[in-house]
Amino acid sequence: MRPGVNLASDNQSDWVARSLHSVWHPCTQMQHHETLPLIPVSHGRGAWLFDTQGRRYLDCISSWWVNLFGHANPDINAALKDQLDKLEHAMLAGFTHEPVIRLSEKLAALTGGVLGHCFYASDGASATEISLKMSFHYWRNSGQPGRQEFICLKGSYHGETMGALGVTDVAIFRDAYGPLLHGAHVVASPDARQAQAGETAADVARRAAADLEQCLQQHAGKIAAVILEPLVQCATGMAMHDAEYLRLVRALCDRYQVHLIADEIAVGCGRTGTFFACEQADIWPDFVCLSKGISGGYLPLSLVMTRDAIFQAFYDTDVRRGFLHSHSYTGNPLACRAALATLDLFESGDVLQQNRIKAARITRALQPLAQHARVEHFRQQGMIWAFDALVEGADAASFSRRFFTMALENELLLRPIGKTVYLMPPYILDDDEIDEIGRRVLRVFDQVTANGDSGVLS
Ligand SMILES: *Cc1c(COP(=O)(O)O)cnc(C)c1O
Repeated sequence: MRPGVNLASDNQSDWVARSLHSVWHPCTQMQHHETLPLIPVSHGRGAWLFDTQGRRYLDCISSWWVNLFGHANPDINAALKDQLDKLEHAMLAGFTHEPVIRLSEKLAALTGGVLGHCFYASDGASATEISLKMSFHYWRNSGQPGRQEFICLKGSYHGETMGALGVTDVAIFRDAYGPLLHGAHVVASPDARQAQAGETAADVARRAAADLEQCLQQHAGKIAAVILEPLVQCATGMAMHDAEYLRLVRALCDRYQVHLIADEIAVGCGRTGTFFACEQADIWPDFVCLSKGISGGYLPLSLVMTRDAIFQAFYDTDVRRGFLHSHSYTGNPLACRAALATLDLFESGDVLQQNRIKAARITRALQPLAQHARVEHFRQQGMIWAFDALVEGADAASFSRRFFTMALENELLLRPIGKTVYLMPPYILDDDEIDEIGRRVLRVFDQVTANGDSGVLS
């Protein structure tokens, strides 16, 4: 036990000490909190989070990419309060309810009925697991039990449960648990930053697609599915690629009779400019995974959408041919209701069109960074912006933590991935907030790159 923790205290100023004592925080080396701040959040309003000391932070990363329409959104709040008085939860085996039916129908309609069957879970990693299991089981039900392997992209991230980690290629996450994993084939990423002189992003996409084709040829008849994040590989550092890649992969999957799984957990729900990222390539995958923004950032909810042909391969009198997967909170009514309220906001606010206007202003506000001498690969896709800091050695290793800390001091919540600074803001920023973000991100970047590793944390 750490000294000086008063566990009986209700004083909010003790929250940090008590949290570090009893809460094991995710994706965190707990010892770093000896110097890295831990923010006790008391409430949120719109794009802002407020801490117990009265300080505020503009949430430029949508609270880990989930919050689309602000904290304490009045419309989502009202829908949830109404739902609370009707039904908080009921099991989805043998029972159904209005929110899950309406949500499934609405989402299916957004794909023009192509992906007309929705299977529910609670978190993104579970959606990944479901898509992998469904693909594998489909092939077995269809007389091709030899299709048991998966292909993922270099730098891919699909979640951190063991099945999802098996198709994840982020070294820090995967190396630690490698011996536990059932690995996948890793093929070239179409990351446009790899373009050689004279090459376009589409050229890089074609090169990466050729690498995928080689893998499909080499393992013909053994591959169940290719899983990818369309348009932006987010967790590896907002690696963006040309939509041509998705068209080529779709064609290859058709040619080699392999499923295409689109993990739209981060890039779905309008994040890349269209509701589904795949729409920009004018293709539909065989499975779409959604989570994060789908409930507006309110409640844990994920789902996998798939085609009728896949659904039909499971439809039988034999229980073992049915899809064998369930979670206690599958299709939770409150979470589904939050998702319905979120989809209503997309419709009533003409959000995708409004986002194009906001995005243009945000890109303008970030121009000084796009042209900064210590910045490379400034890039944007829909409501995602990213750039890489030109820093070396010890400065590079500590860049992310120093930037996070300095950003907090400037009332911004930003959490770089390595040397990549990115913004993934909620869709509700006003013009003043946008312009202020531009000024402050530049200020933080200048402070962090000018200071190097000199004592920002001490
Ligand atoms: C966040 C994320 C996941 C995992 O979702 P969790 O809810 O954190 O389990 C999977 N895939 C992608 C692309 C993600 O961004």
